[in-house]
Amino acid sequence: MKLTDLTIKQVHEKLYKKEISTKELLESVINAVKEDDKREDKIYSYIELFESDAYNQAEKAQEKINKGETLPLLGIPVSIKDNILYKGHLMTASSKMLDGYVAPYTSPVVERLIEAGAIIVGRTNMDEYAMGGTTETSIYGVTRNPRNRNYVPGGSSGGSAASVAGNFSFGSLGSDTGGSVRQPASFCGVVGVKPTYGRVPREGCVAMASSLDQVGTFGKDVYDAALMTKVVSGYNKKESTTLNIPVGDYDKANEKDISGVKIGLPIEYFESNLICADVRRNVEQSIKNLEKNGAKIVNINLPHSKYGSMVYTAVMCLEVASNMGRFDGIRYGFHPQGDFNLEEYYIEARSKSFDFEAKARIIFGSLLAGNKCFESHYKHALKVRALMQADFENAFKEIDVIISPTTPVTASLLGSRDQTETELNFLADSYTSNINLVGLPAMSVPCGVDGNDMPVGLQVIANKFEESTMFSVAYAHERLLNS
Ligand code: GLN
Repeated sequence: MKLTDLTIKQVHEKLYKKEISTKELLESVINAVKEDDKREDKIYSYIELFESDAYNQAEKAQEKINKGETLPLLGIPVSIKDNILYKGHLMTASSKMLDGYVAPYTSPVVERLIEAGAIIVGRTNMDEYAMGGTTETSIYGVTRNPRNRNYVPGGSSGGSAASVAGNFSFGSLGSDTGGSVRQPASFCGVVGVKPTYGRVPREGCVAMASSLDQVGTFGKDVYDAALMTKVVSGYNKKESTTLNIPVGDYDKANEKDISGVKIGLPIEYFESNLICADVRRNVEQSIKNLEKNGAKIVNINLPHSKYGSMVYTAVMCLEVASNMGRFDGIRYGFHPQGDFNLEEYYIEARSKSFDFEAKARIIFGSLLAGNKCFESHYKHALKVRALMQADFENAFKEIDVIISPTTPVTASLLGSRDQTETELNFLADSYTSNINLVGLPAMSVPCGVDGNDMPVGLQVIANKFEESTMFSVAYAHERLLNS
């Protein structure tokens, strides 16, 4: 087995026993990326490697190991999505608009990784401004799915998911506004976590839709993802939306017994004819396995979930329109050259540097923010959002977790998903985006494959700040799947 194939737990053992050095480990990752980059059909999970900084960090980590120190991620090479700030490094959200933008400070999530001893290998590819589900809309080019290079890795954090699935990193950070961590995790066959809204700082992550955005984590297995989540979780005094609630030992949640745990299956999710047969078969099998091992299965109702994709579209687009206002071609990145007055300058900057998806969402969101639609559509969407939240609150009075497919479909062939079919794409995302609307923690765990050998993902959803319960069920599922 190659070093790069191992998990964080396995690599840590080798590092602490001094069987390998941190430099050797980092080299194995960087060489694997460079080797793959030579191929015409390269995975292309990284847009840029932060080689010299990474080697410096590796050296420091080795010194700590030599002194007998231990830290949760000491010496572990990880990657970060190209919308998370890391001081002195380029950060572009894979958009022409932020071309050449250098991070002026380090986001708390990256700071926490570094404090935990991790080595930041580089920044990963994504859909422009995190809007999309295939990682085909980046200005840098497409990322391919390591399970089969003809397929998309999902998105928008497709580069992060592919870096973990392709053994180019041992963990990664992404962002999840409507499923952008869980959906690519599901498509690539790795674990992806979206914590409770407010569990993890958002400071220093490019805002897409601020009431939905969360930084999330990827790992090769539940333990690695749980460990990554534990490291980046917790209160940030600069952010009023993070909460000062103690962070659990998520990496130890596997010690919990799941017998008697009540698992809710939303009738509305499973009735849907959006779910393809292979996804249904694998998810139902996993539910049976959990039931055999003592979990109690209960059918639940989430009556307003059918409006989820419409509510998501309204809330997300309005917030996108507001957040994207700051990208005016003056303060950041791309500066058009020519003889323009101010208005012409804005128009030139924004029309030349945003692609179709960003423009469509800004236009639609601006329309919703206007007099004609604000009350009738946007405010209405907020009311339905509150009803959706009440549905989940009711459900969690009786159950511990909810299980569903992460997505009703598996990865599509590259170039086959029409990016402009926004309505259909949002409908397919509704299993994940509903959870952002209600702010709950959720994760995707591998759960078998479809007829083309492409991974299926199981989504485990827990009550607010109940990540430990979520991880314990995910661990149990993973153990049963591999036994
Ligand atoms: N695919 C969804 C969208 O396009 C989710 C995006 C995200 O979570 N950043 O909106």
